[in-house]
Amino acid sequence: MLGRPQGPPVVFEHEGCGGRIHRHLGCEACAAAPAPAQVKARQGPGARAVQT
Ligand SMILES: [Zn+2]
Repeated sequence: MLGRPQGPPVVFEHEGCGGRIHRHLGCEACAAAPAPAQVKARQGPGARAVQT
């Protein structure tokens, strides 16, 4: 994979508090590990850089 200086194309966010979810599904804001239904994916800062 090439590096993406703009950031990831998709980020996961804890719906409850808006904290970002890391790959291991732990919220960096409140340290909760929300169920998948409580996590929403949204475009990250690198989304525009992805062109196919
Ligand atoms: Zn949270």
